Amino acid sequence: MITRCLCALAALAVGLSPLLEPRLGADTVKWTRLRTANFTLIGDQGDKPLRRVAERMEQFREVFGRVFPNTKQAPPAPIVVHVFGSERAYQPFMPLFHGKRVDVGGYFQEAPGAYYITLNTEAGERAYPTIFHEYVHLLVGSALADVPVWFNEGLAEYYSTYQLYGEREASLGRVKEEHVFDLRERFIPLTELLAVDYRSPLYNEGERRGIFYAESWALVHYLLLGSPERKGQLATYLQQYADGVAPAAAFRAAFGGSEADLEKELRRYVRQSLYQSTRVRFADKVAIDKDWIVDQPSEADAQAALADLLLAVRRPEEAAARAEDALKLAPDHARAQAVLARVRAAQGQADRSATLIAAAVKAAGRTDYLPAYYHARLLLRGEGEHTATITGASARQALALLDQVIALQPSLADAHGLAAYAALIADDPKGAMAHAATAFTMSPRHEYALLHARARVFQRDQTVRPALVALVQRGSSDWIRHEAQELLDFLTRMEGWASLPTAADYTGAPFTPSDGSTAPARPERLIPVFRATADGEVREAGLFEGVECPRNGVILTVRLPSRVARVHARAFDQVEFFSYRSSEPPGQIACGPRPQPERVYLTYRATGGPPGTDGVAVAIELLPDDYQP
Ligand SMILES: [Zn+2]
Repeated sequence: MITRCLCALAALAVGLSPLLEPRLGADTVKWTRLRTANFTLIGDQGDKPLRRVAERMEQFREVFGRVFPNTKQAPPAPIVVHVFGSERAYQPFMPLFHGKRVDVGGYFQEAPGAYYITLNTEAGERAYPTIFHEYVHLLVGSALADVPVWFNEGLAEYYSTYQLYGEREASLGRVKEEHVFDLRERFIPLTELLAVDYRSPLYNEGERRGIFYAESWALVHYLLLGSPERKGQLATYLQQYADGVAPAAAFRAAFGGSEADLEKELRRYVRQSLYQSTRVRFADKVAIDKDWIVDQPSEADAQAALADLLLAVRRPEEAAARAEDALKLAPDHARAQAVLARVRAAQGQADRSATLIAAAVKAAGRTDYLPAYYHARLLLRGEGEHTATITGASARQALALLDQVIALQPSLADAHGLAAYAALIADDPKGAMAHAATAFTMSPRHEYALLHARARVFQRDQTVRPALVALVQRGSSDWIRHEAQELLDFLTRMEGWASLPTAADYTGAPFTPSDGSTAPARPERLIPVFRATADGEVREAGLFEGVECPRNGVILTVRLPSRVARVHARAFDQVEFFSYRSSEPPGQIACGPRPQPERVYLTYRATGGPPGTDGVAVAIELLPDDYQP
């Protein structure tokens, strides 16, 4: 930060007394880092403000954990808290919305590999509601796979008013006047509120979104504090919901009576003028202090951490500038190089990015998990609009990097999530299942459930259907529901296919000759020798789904673990077709969908294809049924 201040000052220096400069020299800034059980805090105002913020966050976490005990496990990624001493110091790190700075007192940002909390101590209490709101989402999301949207937002709003009184007391559930006033003007029918999911316009449209938050808050407040008769009903409802019970039935089981009754009570509730809140008392000041570690990071470490933060809040140019500042101080700084590698990748500078990230991983050694995680992510996901071209080799490289990450940061759920994805591409569905299951235990996200299901589909496991149906019905985002549906359709198409004889069917029961003649020779089991790939060719295992025949040639579609590849050829005879299948004659390759998609190796060149395709087709090799690549 100081390096940048000096740059800005240099421009103004003409009009300023030169005597001012030495006081702002870089060596006057001392960075402090404080590590608690659940947070890493960093700032340049000494350890006192860090301790105050840490205490607040740890206490909040404890209070929340008392009510929801299963939220007490480690967070699915480390939480880094940047504490700024003034509005001016905080401004360069505030989030942007449509390119404009949003002036907040505090902010919570989820990013690859870590969560970032930022706050300005000058903002006082104003800093916390947003942070607590989002932190509740993190705690709930790490513990519960499925909660209704109204509960998720209502609870986050409920806890956002958490306030400390003295050293041993806090209040919970203070009234949010703005919500109450809002609800006296407008009200959503309760049935509509309960039915909101992540797709609902109500949840996504600016104007009505406000009333949705207000009423969600009111309902949670009423059920937790406003009605002794209804105590405990919310927990029952959540359990029913998580078990997949239909909403209407879940409602009756938990709340008895009808939605109309509860709605009447809620309408009455928001018209009253007094609202309860609760006090929480801490036996000790919170079981903390002694295990906290304080140290002084170097200027380069601090600048690299801030560069990383800027990347997380999507200010990549500023992130790059700051990473370069850090590299001036420490030329092989691991974190700074890793941040710069991601920015360059997003700018399409693939070679520069590859050099930087390799150097970053090497420099980090066993001191920082993030460069290796960023590297694996670049290999598997790319950065920004530049998606990665994934090969078996790059997937295996990513797996090795993720092993390193997991050794350093075992609780990073997404390291397992990415490893599941990489294992699928490396054609190791069993490994993918194991990683996806671990990721899901740490953070029950639907994307990990989908990865798990996908690995089962690739093993032709028809019993995966209920899991897929659940994801189609309740998946937390459009792409998850869409992909789950695609996998279901695919399973349906495969059903006929599964009944075909496989090579294994011929090696099973011994043949007993009945007429003295010699037994017919069993079909030889083929050990395929695959086509060698040439330079610039990519080979991936997948399912050959069909051939499109536009005017300018043919497009082969092959379902890969991660996507559907569409590769072009000017004509059929430009593609080499091989069959290693013993159990059936090689079918004719013609325009249209394949009636029974075959497992194949697809070889193609990623460049030179017409727009809208993934490249130029080179070869299709039909794999034997029992072949494990
Ligand atoms: Zn929220």
